[in-house]
Amino acid sequence: MMDWSSDSTLDRVEEHRDDAAWLHEQWHSPTARVLPVGPGGRLPVASDATLRYAPAAGELDPMTTHLLGLADGEPIFCQVVDTVAGDTATVREIGHRLTATQSDVAFSATALANWHRIEPRCSACGALTEPRRAGLMRHCPECGRDSWPRTDPAVIVAVTNGDDEILLAHQTAWPPAVCRCSQASSRQVNRWNRPSIARSSRNQAYGWESCATSAANPGPIPVR
Ligand SMILES: [Zn+2]
Repeated sequence: MMDWSSDSTLDRVEEHRDDAAWLHEQWHSPTARVLPVGPGGRLPVASDATLRYAPAAGELDPMTTHLLGLADGEPIFCQVVDTVAGDTATVREIGHRLTATQSDVAFSATALANWHRIEPRCSACGALTEPRRAGLMRHCPECGRDSWPRTDPAVIVAVTNGDDEILLAHQTAWPPAVCRCSQASSRQVNRWNRPSIARSSRNQAYGWESCATSAANPGPIPVR
């Protein structure tokens, strides 16, 4: 099984995130780079479909700009913006062409920017929250509640039939040649992967009614 992030050099630097002086120093580093993220997860890309960074300029705005981490010692930030100039793409469109570190940066930036964009308010009292820990957390100044980005309880699996064939899926909204490998399914709280995968396969793939999983990690709260 492929570990998608195994070769990434992106270090989230958890130990420095509450150090304002350290963060200021990183922002003003000559190697600091910023990856803008537009609505819909649009990222700036170069002509060779790699990520196109911008230099860190001006003062760091903690409301819109968040530290992803250090990649090979160089600070990388993402920035929530309304528009991205030039050519753009989503991680779904270019993720397979990126290096492990660039892929890690692209996915992390997309997820983090999307979270800050759609959940700026406290889920308990509705007040506007403030980014903390260089963007990895939000804090409510009214009720004191802290919130973090959600982690989707989802699985992506390859469904095979025992004859060395793999099931590919396609949506009519996608470009003609784009297929997905193979089943993606949200997992309910406190359920195991296997029933979810089997149900999804039965519902979406006629003739592929049996499902065998070779490995799965248990849910965070075991059923029994
Ligand atoms: Zn609150």
